[in-house]
Amino acid sequence: MGSSFTDRLARVLRNVDVRVEAGDDARRVVLSGENDTYRSSSLSPAQARAVQQVLQSLREAPTSLLQRPRSDIVEACRRQHPNVPGDTIRSMVERARAESWTEAELSEALGRTSRTQVLKKHAAADVWGVLVLSQQDSNVCPACRRLDAVAYAIDHALAEQPLPHADCANRTCRCQYLPVVQEEDLYSTVETRTGA
Ligand SMILES: [Zn+2]
Ligand SMILES: [Zn+2]
Repeated sequence: MGSSFTDRLARVLRNVDVRVEAGDDARRVVLSGENDTYRSSSLSPAQARAVQQVLQSLREAPTSLLQRPRSDIVEACRRQHPNVPGDTIRSMVERARAESWTEAELSEALGRTSRTQVLKKHAAADVWGVLVLSQQDSNVCPACRRLDAVAYAIDHALAEQPLPHADCANRTCRCQYLPVVQEEDLYSTVETRTGA
């Protein structure tokens, strides 16, 4: 595989989601990384078109993770999701290749599986439930903030799978589950969802 400038940029694009967002007032370039989101100042229509053309050609560059050898993909996924069992990762990578998923789809599926593993671990430890905590920084999105500090009874959490937030505006929902050993451990002001 070559390492042209385009290849290198395409590799960066695997970790940072770049898109042009058309708001009510203006178009902006939006960069969403693992931990933060950046919005540019507004673009003219011609500038927005130019950015979109560059993004399109980068997306078509043949450097997708999913086109690399299977063992490389599995290894990269294991590093990103160390709590997901190897067999699960291998079968998910097989599916992704067979069904031509995009990398984002694979990453989303693994993120979901990883959160489910966490829930199962807490369930096995016989806790009452979990508290959903979002990252309290300037990049937390409204969807994640809405569910911050909401407690779920463990069975209800397993049924609902509230994380990762499907409507998270960042590329990766960074919210986490905190185990709640018994319901009495929660402050009385905490909203609890039991499914009952
Ligand atoms: Zn979230
Ligand atoms: Zn979010």
